[in-house]
Amino acid sequence: MAILATPLRSVATSSKTHSARSWQESLRRAIRDPVQLCRSLQLPPQYEQAAAQASQLFGVFVPREYLGRMKKGDEKDPLLRQVLPIAEEIEPGKGFSLDPVGDAAALRARGLLHKYHSRVLLIASGACAVHCRYCFRRHFPYEQMPRRLEDWQPAMEQIKEDTTIEEVILSGGDPLMLTDQRLAELAGCLEPIKHVKRLRIHTRLPVIIPSRVTDSLLSLLSNRHLMPVVVVHINHPAEIDIPVSMALSRLVEAGILVLNQSVLLRGVNDSAEVLTTLSKRLVDLRVMPYYLHQLDRTLGTSHFEVPVDIGIAIIEQMRSRLPGYAMPRFVQENRGKLSKQVLA
Ligand SMILES: *Cc1c(COP(=O)(O)O)cnc(C)c1O
Ligand code: SF4
Repeated sequence: MAILATPLRSVATSSKTHSARSWQESLRRAIRDPVQLCRSLQLPPQYEQAAAQASQLFGVFVPREYLGRMKKGDEKDPLLRQVLPIAEEIEPGKGFSLDPVGDAAALRARGLLHKYHSRVLLIASGACAVHCRYCFRRHFPYEQMPRRLEDWQPAMEQIKEDTTIEEVILSGGDPLMLTDQRLAELAGCLEPIKHVKRLRIHTRLPVIIPSRVTDSLLSLLSNRHLMPVVVVHINHPAEIDIPVSMALSRLVEAGILVLNQSVLLRGVNDSAEVLTTLSKRLVDLRVMPYYLHQLDRTLGTSHFEVPVDIGIAIIEQMRSRLPGYAMPRFVQENRGKLSKQVLA
C-alpha cells in the first residue's frame, strides 16, 4: 500500500489565511470510511462489504466537496465510480502489475524520475486529496520519497548538473497537498538554476477542493521567472461545478497555462458524448485539453480498462464534432520509450 492514508502530516503546518485553513479543514473532514461513503450516497447495502474489503488494499479518501457532486442512490454515478472500492479490485487481472510504467527504473535520485528528454518529475508529495481507484501510482513506494527540504538535495544537485533539463514537473501524489510555504521553498530551490525555464504542477486539488487555489498559491506561481504550467485532472464534466470553474478561472487569470488530462475509464467517460462535453466545458474555461490517457495496467484496476480500438473510435467521433484545439491527444505510456505514445 503506497499512498499515505493520512495526508495531514504534510498539510498540518503554518498558513494562517482563511482559505488556506478551509482547504486543510476539508482534508480533515474527508470521508475515509468505506461504509460511511456507501451510506451517505444511499447505496444498496451489498456495496458496503465489498467496499470495506477492497479498501484494505487502498484506503478510501473522498472530500465532501467532491461527494456533493454525486447523485444519491446512483451506484453508476461517474464520480462515485472513481472513488468507490468494489469487489473487482481484488481480482488480479492478467497483465496488470505493481509498476506498469517502469517508474522504479526511472528513479535517478530520491524523489526524482527522469524518463524523457528536457523534463524531470519530482514526487513532491505522497498524499492526495482523493483516492482514485484507477491510480497508476497506487502501489508507489511513497514512504521512500523525500519529506524534509534537506532530503531534496540530491535531486536538486542532479537537476543543477544536467543542463538539458528545461522543465521540472511537481507530481506525486499531489504536490498541492504541500503548504504554499513548502511549495515556495521548492520553487525557490529551482529558480536559481538557469537552464530550468518552466515549472509544471500535476494536480487534482483545484478540482477536488477548489478552495486550494489560494491567493498565495497564485502569487507564488505567477511571480517568478519560471513559466508556470498547471495540469489538472478531470475525467467527467460533472466534476466541474461552479466553485471548480471559479478556481480554474483564477489560475488562468493569474497568467498560468492550464491544461487538463483525463484517463479513459470504463463506466466513467468511455463515450464520445461525455468527452466532447468535457472538452467544450474546458475550452469555455480557457483550459486546454491535453492528454486522454489509456489506462496504465496497474494491479486492481483492470475493470476500468477500455480496449485501445474503442478509445481510438471515441477519439475519431470527437474529432468530427470539435475544433482541433479542443482535442486531447490519446496517449499510452510504454516503459522505456522516449515519450508517451500517441494512439490517436
Ligand atoms: C508523463 C511524464 C512526463 C511528462 O510528459 P509530457 O509528455 O511532457 O507531458 C514527464 N516525466 C515522466 C516520468 C512522466 O511519466
Ligand atoms: S489524485 Fe492522481 S496520484 Fe492521487 S490517487 Fe488520484 S490519480 Fe492517483
